Amino acid sequence: MLFICLLIQFLVSSLETCKSPLKRDCSGTDIKLYIQVGEERLPICSKCWEKLADSDAEWDEKGFRRG
Ligand SMILES: [Zn+2]
Repeated sequence: MLFICLLIQFLVSSLETCKSPLKRDCSGTDIKLYIQVGEERLPICSKCWEKLADSDAEWDEKGFRRG
């Protein structure tokens, strides 16, 4: 049983979910692209990418700014 639990945990963690800086709780899995923010490479789902592209937000290796 422990083995099955570990297996499920592995599968869930290998599924990438959206980590949009504008919507931290988004759990979208239709990852459109990645943005580099500081040290992190954040997966962004297509819905959040639309919002991000429309916003005045900026990001680079120093971090994320809402604009
Ligand atoms: Zn998203």
